[in-house]
Amino acid sequence: MSASLNYPLRFQPIFHHALWGGRRLATMLGKPLGAGEDFAESWEVVDHRQDQSVVLDGPMAGQTLHALVCDHADELLGRHAGRERFPLLLKFLDANRTLSVQVHPTDEQAARLEPPDLGKTEAWVVLAKEPESKIYAGLKPGVTRLRLQQALEDGACEACLHTIRPALGDCFYIPAGTVHALGAGLLVAEIQQASDATFRLFDWNRTDADGKPRPLHIEQALATIDFNRGPVEPQRPCPADQPGRERLVESDTFVLDRCTIHETFVVGGDHRFHLLVVLAGALEWSGVDAPLRTGQTLLLPAAADPGELVLRRGRGDAEGGKLLGAVVLDIYLP
Ligand SMILES: [Zn+2]
Repeated sequence: MSASLNYPLRFQPIFHHALWGGRRLATMLGKPLGAGEDFAESWEVVDHRQDQSVVLDGPMAGQTLHALVCDHADELLGRHAGRERFPLLLKFLDANRTLSVQVHPTDEQAARLEPPDLGKTEAWVVLAKEPESKIYAGLKPGVTRLRLQQALEDGACEACLHTIRPALGDCFYIPAGTVHALGAGLLVAEIQQASDATFRLFDWNRTDADGKPRPLHIEQALATIDFNRGPVEPQRPCPADQPGRERLVESDTFVLDRCTIHETFVVGGDHRFHLLVVLAGALEWSGVDAPLRTGQTLLLPAAADPGELVLRRGRGDAEGGKLLGAVVLDIYLP
């Protein structure tokens, strides 16, 4: 008989390098980075082809997330069992340079790709920024396919993009079909469908380390953009049904809540998995004597008993100021 999957899972983060990366995954999120100045992404929870999260401890230590989806579907996914792989991908991104302007397909469009993939709807929560940091999200009102095409030919795509200077904690919801780019200086948590389907529209007329421009996918991007979508503004958080919980995104693909925890906070017991991401402060899971620090992630399987996140240290403690509580994202399927 196999061990049962009823405890909160921690995974080994998977680091990705890029020219636009930096060191903030270590300095702000406590990631154990090696040497180098180009750490761009920390994939916290992923089951996408060869990219596989591996369980760190407990009876499932060493197993991939995909193996858990295959062998423990009911325990892991509960009411959402019956999927071939884990549907969501969670990462942190450290963007020290502006990322390329891109767009992702819907599930329908991505199913026709070779090889087929999921669509990619995503959301960001801003964890750090520079005073001048920008987010590009959606097209300016009235930008048609023709106008965008002309701007791309002129190398002047930026004039078509809705541009925002985000505040710390802002959440942006980017459904498939929405043109977007993260600007220089941003550190974000990103939740997305577990997909790699990206069409690059514009790369700011840049070249890579070898002096070559990166490939663009302009035709596919233009065919994928939802030209009715318009500008994207930060989400307006709404109170949810538990004190300290606010809803940032409620969509068909995921729900994203932000929880502020002053003492204890109950999660789970609703036959669905929960991805819990600590954005500030330190906590522990009830009965498990292992700290859960800023930048760490837990996957609570659907079969786990409901438990409590217990505050160890809030945001304000270090400065000796007033206690602000810990901040945790709770991500789950609707
Ligand atoms: Zn994207």
